[in-house]
Amino acid sequence: PLSLSDMVEARRICVCVRKRPLNSKEVTKNDIDVVSIPGNGTLLLHEPKQKVDLTKYLDNQVFHFDYSFDESSTNDLVYRFTAKPLVQTIFDGGVATCFAYGQTGSGKTHTMGGDFSGKSQNNAKGIYAMAAQDVFALLKQRRYSGLDLCPYVTFFEIYNSKVFDLLNKKAKLRVLEDEKQQVQVVGLQEMYVSCAEDVIKMIEMGSACRTSGQTSANANSSRSHAVLQVILRRRNQVHGKFSLVDLAGNERGIDVRSSDRQTLVETAEINRSLLALKECIRSLGMDSHHIPFRMSKLTQVLRDSFIGENSRTCMIAMVSPGMSSCDSTVNTLRYADRVK
Ligand code: ADP
Ligand code: MG
Repeated sequence: PLSLSDMVEARRICVCVRKRPLNSKEVTKNDIDVVSIPGNGTLLLHEPKQKVDLTKYLDNQVFHFDYSFDESSTNDLVYRFTAKPLVQTIFDGGVATCFAYGQTGSGKTHTMGGDFSGKSQNNAKGIYAMAAQDVFALLKQRRYSGLDLCPYVTFFEIYNSKVFDLLNKKAKLRVLEDEKQQVQVVGLQEMYVSCAEDVIKMIEMGSACRTSGQTSANANSSRSHAVLQVILRRRNQVHGKFSLVDLAGNERGIDVRSSDRQTLVETAEINRSLLALKECIRSLGMDSHHIPFRMSKLTQVLRDSFIGENSRTCMIAMVSPGMSSCDSTVNTLRYADRVK
């Protein structure tokens, strides 16, 4: 029987928003929920009933997206409307990309399923794992089993414009572009995977590698983009590619005076790459011939995501519900509004 998700067709660009619940820390601090999701892709940003000046946001309180997910939505539901329709794309020989965007703490890693810190019970049920399961389910279907498709996984991190291989002890890798503008990450480990559990093992390994050496004060993982790719090869040629990207936090309000040099450099770099990403997704939507993918390492490495007739992109913008996050939330919603 046809399930609801089977009827969701992959759109060229799909932009959604997901709100997480208020967490216990926010509740303790009497933070107020200022985000509501009436449904149908709509999000409302409220003026809190408190003496706080939010008048500067009043002119733009309603936002519309392809889908909006409230705090009660599960990863499973989010997956069905976002990444799931893209799995088909890579079997059809296309390039699919799914981005998790938002400030640190808004739920990007929770949604993707890259939290293997032991604190989260949800890691097995994130988008990474569900996409992996669907890839292997389709590989077994008769219409694809004759194609001799072989699945591989890469997992890497982009931090301050440098690429690090999470499946190879964080080896620093070079990015090269040939005369045909083909971009290659030199030496990136591409691991053959024979089942969804293999993929999860790789993610677990890479996630451990990602967080090692970070201090809690300046969590490195929130300052870098993590890219998981599932690549289908056919007679050694790339047939389709699915990139699942847990983007660096886009937080606002970094105090220029009190921040150290490293934080400022990181922040400038993150802003630059997120701006580049916005421009590239927009040019994909406009079928533009000029794709400014060289604007950042992130977009350069993901160049294939922005070209070709069969490229599909989905962005899930995560928002924290609290009034204390309002600046970042507005920032996230405006960004998501620009790429749709
Ligand atoms: P990010 O990766 O954007 O920095 P995380 O995914 O690490 O944020 O989420 C921060 C915290 O909030 C984690 O403890 C996570 O488990 C929790 N969280 C995020 N989204 C949700 C959600 N939709 N439901 C319940 N808890 C969530
Ligand atoms: Mg994270």
